[in-house]
Amino acid sequence: MSPTLLRNVRPWGGDARDVLIDADAIREIGAPGTISAEGAVAVDGDGGILLPSFSDVHVHLDSTRMGLPFRPNTAGDTRWSHIMNDRENWRSAERSVADRATYTLGRMIAQGATRVRSHAQVDADSGLEKFEGVLAARDAHRDRASVEIVAFPQVGIHLEDGVPDLLDLALRSGADLIGGIDPCEIDRDPIRHLDTVFDLADRHGVGVDIHLHEGGSLGLFSLDLILERTRALGMAGRVSVSHAFSLADRSPGVDRALEQVAELDVALTTIAPKGSLTVPLDLPIERLLETGVRVGLGMDGQRDYWSPWGDGDMLERTWMLAFTQGFSRDDLIEDCLAVATWGGASVIDATLPRLAPGVRPGVAVGDPAELVVVRGDTPTAAVMDRSSERLVLHRGRIVAENDDLR
Ligand SMILES: [Zn+2]
Repeated sequence: MSPTLLRNVRPWGGDARDVLIDADAIREIGAPGTISAEGAVAVDGDGGILLPSFSDVHVHLDSTRMGLPFRPNTAGDTRWSHIMNDRENWRSAERSVADRATYTLGRMIAQGATRVRSHAQVDADSGLEKFEGVLAARDAHRDRASVEIVAFPQVGIHLEDGVPDLLDLALRSGADLIGGIDPCEIDRDPIRHLDTVFDLADRHGVGVDIHLHEGGSLGLFSLDLILERTRALGMAGRVSVSHAFSLADRSPGVDRALEQVAELDVALTTIAPKGSLTVPLDLPIERLLETGVRVGLGMDGQRDYWSPWGDGDMLERTWMLAFTQGFSRDDLIEDCLAVATWGGASVIDATLPRLAPGVRPGVAVGDPAELVVVRGDTPTAAVMDRSSERLVLHRGRIVAENDDLR
């Protein structure tokens, strides 16, 4: 493959530069006109802002209804009613899981995400059907994005027969991580739930990513059990906790939990939820960055049987993160952009350097060839304006331009 010479782009909104990229990494950065384009495909960046590509590290490609006629939300108020609403309706979708997941992943890539971690529900009702749909989407876009798949027991592990075996089969069939969910509230047997999750991880040599919506002391208790198993199995750097609403509390127990999260290098993912004073849901992003905790952003479901939110655009979700965090300062809003891009990349690959407040990685010589060019006077302006004019590069090749896949 010929290298790509991106002309006239501004890394993180700085001075204009030309950037030479091959399939593996950024190879050279120089003042405009100073890098030879010989043998390279030259592309005019037109003064756009060069960023690491977006990383959606918490999405449910199997449940999406993007691209289908809109259906009013019929879920109830509880998490269980959402789970059952999905179960009652997903088979009546107008297109197959594979078609819906492929379309949605394409929309995500077109808008700048080239690193994705998707959950795929595995349960007694759907077996591996949803998982196989996500596998098909990953395969359809294998030249445009890197996709990790989590075998996700959305309906619990021990409420219905055969789920551990299905999870085992998913892990033998291409799943990259094993998931889990609210071990106290769903299975109502946290030890058994987490022992099954970590046993599967240990046997298959895969990472763990657990949905933890449980709040307050119940959530901290479940988190403690996760940390205990992470330590016992030597899985530091290979465990993620999604949502982690209990860490949004300002209670004293949170300090101790965060210390251990940092020590065991457990990654966190957030979907930028809006909490309230009495029920906080928003992770303390700045504090996580100061502590060196890996944190990434995701879109969760997209126009599905859970909620109408989500449209594949991680720049919009970055706007939501900055909004729900209550940020107005440019440096803080840029931190959100760093979380949505490099933060997620470090959730997927723990060997990458981690973020810190004000650190703007991902666009220097040697950094991965996963990049996006967005429009805006500054990075903060790009978040506020969210222009659809974008260039998206995966493995050094342009895979989408101005909302269209290549
Ligand atoms: Zn989720």
